[in-house]
Amino acid sequence: MSPDSSGTLFIVAAPSGAGKSTLVNALLEREPGISLSISHTTRPPRPGEQYGRHYYFVERTEFEREVAEGIFLEHAEVHGNFYGTSSKTVQDLLQQGSDVLLEIDWQGAAQIRKTKPDCVSVFILPPSRAELERRLRGRGSDSAEVIERRLRNSRGEIAHAHEFDYIIVNDRFEDALDGLQAIVRAVRLRSAPQCQRHETLIQELLADN
Ligand code: 5GP
Repeated sequence: MSPDSSGTLFIVAAPSGAGKSTLVNALLEREPGISLSISHTTRPPRPGEQYGRHYYFVERTEFEREVAEGIFLEHAEVHGNFYGTSSKTVQDLLQQGSDVLLEIDWQGAAQIRKTKPDCVSVFILPPSRAELERRLRGRGSDSAEVIERRLRNSRGEIAHAHEFDYIIVNDRFEDALDGLQAIVRAVRLRSAPQCQRHETLIQELLADN
């Protein structure tokens, strides 16, 4: 991570219907000290989605202005809509010492790896093609056309799974959640941040008396 921040940037990506948002929300409830970055999007809100809680919903012209102003750490077109992560949102959370989770697509992940090589990326796979389709159709909040487009696009997303640091197959939800939590915990126990956190302890243990 950059020297002015202490938290880790986690990226979670998946094809639509793999259960990524449900997993991420469960992780955030279970694991303290990690915050979700709220993205900007030109996609219209689904029923029940709120501005500032799920996304910052913006018009295309506003999104284009934000791109021109350079406010995004990454941005991409996904399923015909534009999505972007605000640099300031991420930096503010990292500087508060929180770990930050980005729920973004493979294109955004590739952009972030270039500027933040210490990020940790996780790809969620569905257990089968049939299950992916079942979950996508069962969501009930997207039109048939949107579902078909997302199903068609899923291969393009899955083709990039190998670029990620970790892959989780979301078959049994609890197992997938345990896997995601284990990744976050293992990263937090890496020796470099642990040496910083426990500097006093290590000094005390090393001191002659
Ligand atoms: P949805 O419309 O279902 O909320 O999201 C569609 C896709 O866009 C998902 O793969 C989601 O991870 C991705 N996405 C959401 N926010 C961002 C973002 O800020 N940047 C990028 N690159 N992708 C995003």
